[in-house]
Amino acid sequence: MSLDVTWALAWVRRTAQVVAENRDLLVELDRQIGDGDHGENLNRGFAAVIGKLDGAEPPELVGDVLKTVATTLMSTVGGAAGPLYGTAYLRAAKVTGVASLDAAGVVALLEAGLEGIVARGKAQPGEKTMVDAWTPAVTAAQDAAANGASAEQVLVAAAEAAEAGAVATDPLVATKGRASYLGERSAGHRDPGAASSALVIRAAAEAAG
Ligand code: ADP
Ligand code: MG
Ligand code: MG
Repeated sequence: MSLDVTWALAWVRRTAQVVAENRDLLVELDRQIGDGDHGENLNRGFAAVIGKLDGAEPPELVGDVLKTVATTLMSTVGGAAGPLYGTAYLRAAKVTGVASLDAAGVVALLEAGLEGIVARGKAQPGEKTMVDAWTPAVTAAQDAAANGASAEQVLVAAAEAAEAGAVATDPLVATKGRASYLGERSAGHRDPGAASSALVIRAAAEAAG
């Protein structure tokens, strides 16, 4: 499948579906080291995104879809994750104003998403945040594309790396966001934003499959 606007719409629908399916898991992860609202926040946001897309003219460009996601998440999710995901999708939209993405286009999308999260939240890798899922995903995508992988294969490589990155947050001590209030006690729990980021990136690969 070419990664066109139909793919972008399928990605968003698949994301809304997996976020709904994993709502309670994300709430539970956030209950361990935060305030227990991450699954609720994201589920509300992606449900609103679907409502927005259902009521709108069919978009033409990949970036049109991502722009709608960005503005809707910013106005509905709240907390830390709303502005972070909103900025990620907004930056990603800016580099995807095209009819379809090739492997380099997928890499650019992921790089822009990570840049948005870092610009907004100022977290470095290892601080137990969503950056710890996005950073390995970007590196894996870059490596796969450099080795001649297709756009779909780049997404699969990114998804695997994001999932491993989320798992690797378990032993980390949080130094950004609400979980940092717990200090050393934040270790031994998975970061909810890293877990949801892995779901989002996996959904992109699934939508292409
Ligand atoms: P809140 O903490 O306001 O309740 P959420 O629960 O929706 O917001 O989101 C929490 C997630 O946001 C964390 O698990 C972490 O991944 C992410 N996060 C928090 N602060 C930052 C930051 N400065 N940079 C990147 N990600 C962050
Ligand atoms: Mg929370
Ligand atoms: Mg909150």
